[in-house]
Amino acid sequence: MEKKYVSTRNLQKEINFYQAIVQGIGEDGGLLVPNFDFTKMDLEALSNLNYVDLATEVLSTFVPEDGKELIHEACLNAYGKGLFPEIVVPVKKAGDVYVAELFHGQTAAFKDMALSLLPYLMTLSLKQLNEQREVMILAATSGDTGKAALEGFKDVAGTCIKVFYPLDGVSAIQQQQMVSQTGKNVKVIGIHGNFDDAQTAVKKAFASDELKVESDKHNVFLSSANSINVGRLIPQIVYYFHSYFELVRNDEINLGDQVNFCVPSGNFGNCLAGYFAKQMGLPINKFICASNKNNILTDFFTTGRYDANREFYKTNAPAMDILVSSNLERLVWFMSDGDGDKVRSYMDKLNSEGVYEVDEETYEKIKKQFKAGYLNEDEVLQTIKQCFNETGYLLDTHTAIGYGVLKQYQKDSGDDMKTILLSTASPYKFPESVYKAIYDEELDVYSAIEKLNERTAVPVPRALAGIKDRAVLHKEAIDKTEIISFIKSEIEAM
Ligand SMILES: *Cc1c(COP(=O)(O)O)cnc(C)c1O
Repeated sequence: MEKKYVSTRNLQKEINFYQAIVQGIGEDGGLLVPNFDFTKMDLEALSNLNYVDLATEVLSTFVPEDGKELIHEACLNAYGKGLFPEIVVPVKKAGDVYVAELFHGQTAAFKDMALSLLPYLMTLSLKQLNEQREVMILAATSGDTGKAALEGFKDVAGTCIKVFYPLDGVSAIQQQQMVSQTGKNVKVIGIHGNFDDAQTAVKKAFASDELKVESDKHNVFLSSANSINVGRLIPQIVYYFHSYFELVRNDEINLGDQVNFCVPSGNFGNCLAGYFAKQMGLPINKFICASNKNNILTDFFTTGRYDANREFYKTNAPAMDILVSSNLERLVWFMSDGDGDKVRSYMDKLNSEGVYEVDEETYEKIKKQFKAGYLNEDEVLQTIKQCFNETGYLLDTHTAIGYGVLKQYQKDSGDDMKTILLSTASPYKFPESVYKAIYDEELDVYSAIEKLNERTAVPVPRALAGIKDRAVLHKEAIDKTEIISFIKSEIEAM
């Protein structure tokens, strides 16, 4: 069977994996999805593989038959050459909760899990397609994607990358990480607007005929490093398998036992990758999707109605401050049995009225597997303190949301199945909030890092060492309305 990809909105001809990676998003504005049955994995055979080999086995089921060698080389480059520690994703315990730490990559962000691999997937795909044009990667970021993408694509031949971040919507550390980025092919642009504005503008750029004409003229094409790219999504399947096998190896569960996963969510790529893992045979019972005060996903999972007509809040877990959760469109496509016309009508409604509601049959399916909840900002801080005092484990604000929502869910449902909480950030990424939560004192960001380290003895990630003293190399700032024209001028300059 040929492995083809289609758009969730059904107006794009079938393409293969390499084309999907390079194209990034459907020509009709939909998201690309595998249009074939997921391969059922042999759990026994996978259970003792190292991360590189596990990733190779899992990911090669998404590419053409002869692609396995290429995927292996890409996985080796991403996960086997020192960008990550020996155990790529350590699984720790906070009381009775298993915490899979996804933040040990080169920028100390969970986004490194996929963005360390994406540039290799991109270059191998360009080669397979014999593509001669330059690729301009566009990324909108709520903080961590930007840095991880910059680091991944910096000085990669045949590529350049532009990252757009909301000037008031990322943490001080995240901003400093981005504006100090080195590399000849990178640009970092602050925008006056929020993350959704940046993401919407970038999506528009891909659909713009004007930019298409301009790109053709300059022998360049646009692609995406956001989780709308399939190459961002599928690497995330791997750590679901890995963390499950870690529990087996540590005699916490037996191979074949069911577990729950709890996922702090924003664009929903992380959680969706878990759904893929489940389709591939990983014994997952339920997903608990955790949100902050921007609780649009909580409402969707508890009602079937996605209503973006609501206030946008800036919170202490900024990577989850999202009202347009892109990857949900993919879930809705899977849950509607691949009915792209139906998904397109939902998305048209979302565009015109800001709201859609899935039909009952679809919602029934969703409700069975996905549970959801949210914490407000005070609850986040209380959870950090409580978890640290009771278990000694230091949560960041995003992971705390997962932890708090999980505890709520367990209490309300009585479900006591073993649960793996995906930790999406190091506590040192949001040190002011974490320090205040535990010691009730406001410190500036760099003092907070120092004191937190002194008082908790949790090590500071090497990616953040000395960050304060790095030179600012990127100062450009534009309005959200200028993003498209900015991209145009960048294309013209090539
Ligand atoms: C990106 C991110 C999330 C949200 O992940 P999605 O895949 O977009 O749902 C949560 N927490 C942190 C720290 C992140 O960087």
